[in-house]
Amino acid sequence: MVEVDVLVVGSGFAGLVAAIEAATDGASVLVIEKMRAAGGNSIISDGGFAALGEQDSPDLFYDDLVRAGQGLNQPELARILAENALDALAWSRGFLGVEYLERLEIFGGHSVARCYTARGRSGASIMRPLLKKLEELEVPIRYKSRLETIRTDTRGRVTGVLVRYGYDHADPAAGSGLDIKVRRGVVLATGGFGADVAFRTLHDPRLTAEVDTTNKPFATAEALIEAMRLGAAPVQLSHIQLGPWASPDEKGYGEAPGFADYIVFPRGIIVDPSTGRRVCNELADRKILADALLDVGHPCIGIADAQAVTQAGWNLDKGLRKGILKKFETLQALAEGYGIDSVELTKTVERFNSSVANGSDQEFEKPFLDDARPLQIPPYYGVRLWPKVHYTMGGLAINADAAVLDTQGNPMAGLFAAGELVGGVHGACRLGSCSITECFVFGRIAGKNAARSEIRV
Ligand SMILES: Cc1cc2nc3c(=O)[nH]c(=O)nc-3n(C[C@H](O)[C@H](O)[C@H](O)COP(=O)(O)OP(=O)(O)OC[C@H]3O[C@@H](n4cnc5c(N)ncnc54)[C@H](O)[C@@H]3O)c2cc1C
Repeated sequence: MVEVDVLVVGSGFAGLVAAIEAATDGASVLVIEKMRAAGGNSIISDGGFAALGEQDSPDLFYDDLVRAGQGLNQPELARILAENALDALAWSRGFLGVEYLERLEIFGGHSVARCYTARGRSGASIMRPLLKKLEELEVPIRYKSRLETIRTDTRGRVTGVLVRYGYDHADPAAGSGLDIKVRRGVVLATGGFGADVAFRTLHDPRLTAEVDTTNKPFATAEALIEAMRLGAAPVQLSHIQLGPWASPDEKGYGEAPGFADYIVFPRGIIVDPSTGRRVCNELADRKILADALLDVGHPCIGIADAQAVTQAGWNLDKGLRKGILKKFETLQALAEGYGIDSVELTKTVERFNSSVANGSDQEFEKPFLDDARPLQIPPYYGVRLWPKVHYTMGGLAINADAAVLDTQGNPMAGLFAAGELVGGVHGACRLGSCSITECFVFGRIAGKNAARSEIRV
C-alpha cells in the first residue's frame, strides 16, 4: 500500500508542474505515468509558450483567445490564462531554468508575436528542467502505472486510486492492481484524446482512423471517462482541433509543421493546386485554415521563397532530405512539381506581391508582418498540406481553482485537473502555443490547491 498527500496522474508538462508546486508547498507527492518514460505529448512539442509580447496586454491576449474560440471559452478560465501567462513564463525561466530563443513568433489568430520558443524548438528543452527540479524535490515518478479507478468515500470525497501497475500499452491487460491512498488531492493531467479513435469519432464522426494524428498513441480518453463515471462534467468534447500545417506525405507530426507554421503562414502563401489560387488568409487561426483546406477537398501547397526562410531563421535540411519539403529554382518549376497551372500561379504570386508592397491584402485581409517581403527570391520551397488531428479542446470542466466540477457545477472534493485533459479554456479553437501556457498556468494552480486541500481523516 502506498499513501501520499498528493497524487499526480500523467507526466507531461501539466502533471510535472503540478507535482513541483505541490511538493514546494510541503506535500508528499507521487507522479504516476502509464508509459515507460516521462513526457507525454509535451516532450514531442515544439516548446512554443505563449505569453505577452511587445505592445501586448492581458486584455489583447484574452480577446484573441475568445475570438478564436468563437466565444465558447469559459471567460474566467481564458482570463486566468491571459493574466498569468507572463508570470508562468518567468517561473519557467527563473525557478526551473528553461531557456528560450530571443525572437518571438506570431501564429495564426494572435494579434501580435507572443510565442516564446524553447531552445532547440523542442519540448524536451522544457521537460529536462522539469525532471531535474522533480529530482531535487525528491518526487518520484512511478512508470507503467495506469490509472484505472478513482476511489471516493461515502460522501464522494476522493480517497485514492486503483492503478494497473506493470501496464504495457501493447498489452493493456498486463500488470496487476495497486491501491494508492491519497490524503489531500488527486491531480489528473492525462492529456488529450487525439489518438483515441473510438472516443474521438463519438464526438466528431469525421475523424475516423483514416485521419492521421500528430499525437502519440497513448493520447487516449480512459482517465477522462473514469472521471465522468464518478460524476465529473465533460465539456465541449466535439471541438477537436485539426493541425492545418501537417503533410499527408509523412506520418504524425514530422517536418512539415515547422516549415508551414513558422515560415509559410506568416510569410508565404497557400495555393490550391487545381486553381493556382490562394485559399485563405494564411495567418488565420487553425480552425479557419483547416476548414479552408477541407472545403478545397484535397491537399494544398504551402509556398515560401529563400528570403522568407532566411528571415525565419530555420534550417530546412531534414525536411528536404526526407522529401517532405521540396526546393525549386524557379516558380515555374515549383508549379510543374506540384501540377499547378504555371500561368495562374505566377498571377497569384504577382497579386500577393503587390498586396505586400501596398501593405494590405485585398483578397484575404492577411495581416502582413512589419518585415513582410514579396515572394521573389529563389529558390522557392513547397510542401503539401492536409489537416491531422492535433488537439482536443474539450475535456473536464474545472473552476478557477482547477477543481474538477460535477454536472451541477460543484467542485468535487479532492479532485483537480490541468492541461489538455481540461475543457473550456480555448472554446472552439486553441491558438498556437497556448497549450503549454495552459499546462503551466493551471498545473501550478492545481498543484498548489491539491497540496492545500483539506486533509482526509
Ligand atoms: C507534435 C506536437 C507539437 C506541439 N507543439 C506545441 C507547442 O509548441 N506549443 C503548445 O502550446 N502546444 C503544443 N502542442 C500541444 C501540447 O504539446 C499538448 O497539448 C500538451 O503538451 C499536453 O500536455 P499535458 O501535460 O496535458 O499532457 P501530455 O503531455 O500528453 O501528458 C499526459 C501524460 O499522461 C499519461 N496518461 C494518460 N492516461 C493515463 C492514465 N490512465 N494513467 C496514467 N498516465 C496516463 C500519458 O501517457 C502522458 O504521458 C503540441 C502537440 C503535439 C502533439
